[in-house]
Amino acid sequence: MAVKSYLDLKNEVWDTGKCSGCGACVAVCPADSISFDEGEQVTGPKSNGYCKQVTDSVQCGACYAACPRVGDQPKETLGNYLRMVTAKASFEIPHRQSGGAVTALLTNALEEGLIDAIITVTEDRWTMQPSSVIITSSDVLIQQAGSRYSWWVPLLAALKYAVIERKFRRIAVIGVPCAIQAVARIRSSDNDLLKPYGKAIRLALGLFCTETFDYTALINGKLRNQYKLEPYDIRKLDVKGKLEVLKQDGTMLSIPLAELETCVRKGCHYCTDMTAVLADISAGAVGSPAGTTTLIIRTSTGEGFVDSAIRNNRLTLGTAADSPAIEKLASAKIRKNTRNSH
Ligand SMILES: Cc1cc2nc3c(=O)[nH]c(=O)nc-3n(C[C@H](O)[C@H](O)[C@H](O)COP(=O)(O)OP(=O)(O)OC[C@H]3O[C@@H](n4cnc5c(N)ncnc54)[C@H](O)[C@@H]3O)c2cc1C
Ligand code: SF4
Ligand code: SF4
Repeated sequence: MAVKSYLDLKNEVWDTGKCSGCGACVAVCPADSISFDEGEQVTGPKSNGYCKQVTDSVQCGACYAACPRVGDQPKETLGNYLRMVTAKASFEIPHRQSGGAVTALLTNALEEGLIDAIITVTEDRWTMQPSSVIITSSDVLIQQAGSRYSWWVPLLAALKYAVIERKFRRIAVIGVPCAIQAVARIRSSDNDLLKPYGKAIRLALGLFCTETFDYTALINGKLRNQYKLEPYDIRKLDVKGKLEVLKQDGTMLSIPLAELETCVRKGCHYCTDMTAVLADISAGAVGSPAGTTTLIIRTSTGEGFVDSAIRNNRLTLGTAADSPAIEKLASAKIRKNTRNSH
């Protein structure tokens, strides 16, 4: 079979609106030819036209091999797992989104030397502008706890800098399911160009996700123009059937999701994975009481990270999570988006 190039990716993913914006193709392109523009609702990346495969006839295919939107999409609600439990951090994490279990797990992993870097999304607390970052200190990680719902930045583009420039070899990636699918493809690929990245990723930590918003459309558009809310007026965003905006003055504003349809990233309409079925550990709010995190521990690697955090008094596990509640939300996402994802 002919090796695929960015032209195949363009035809099948970029031009069809299926791109999730994960940034994997940007990271793995050995010619650094793929990039994203900045702005509102940027649906996919672009190429500068130079391609090792197409221009130089050198076998490559790295971008196509890493892309999570190529081929069939996962359609499992819960996926395989070893344990599904409620959990919370055993120490104070002021900005945590749910129980702070994600921060607790990875704080322990950094302190124990299980990982040397974390690739994730942080935000400027004044403008709420998201950026993909590489975190190497537990203090910074604790400071950056919380979810970015208007997250979109090509998260995995940071992999290139982390692996090639900084030479990190024990990386944890925190990502929503589309990013974790790309990580899974990179880890399992037999394409030699992907192997250095695959080997360097030690842990894939997936966050549950029903959909995500474009920063410019939501924060600079809808909230500023229609609701007269500046980013610095917002203490926290949460999605619980509605977008819940906790303001700095302590009052709450609820916005029906139907009203925010134009702010949803286009690629999310093709996504049928809510629980990050290909992660080592998945984490979410649904399925656990307020103030705790649901953890789906899927692999022995994931279990090792959890056990270490418990041993070191960083993480406390509670009862079994409410799996029917999680399944219900995941099924609704599959039903809603399946017709688009063929
Ligand atoms: C876009 C999005 C949609 C979500 N939708 C749902 C949902 O529908 N139902 C549900 O139950 N849960 C959802 N979650 C997960 C939930 O908001 C919490 O992230 C999860 O419960 C873990 O909480 P925690 O307190 O343990 O995490 P914390 O301890 O607060 O740590 C969160 C970590 O995630 C990182 N992070 C934040 N946003 C992103 C991002 N966009 N990409 C990569 N890393 C990020 C932070 O840097 C931080 O390290 C969503 C999360 C996101 C980002
Ligand atoms: S889904 Fe990810 S890998 Fe695929 S084209 Fe979009 S940014 Fe690139
Ligand atoms: S809905 Fe799917 S495509 Fe959109 S951000 Fe979430 S995981 Fe990615």
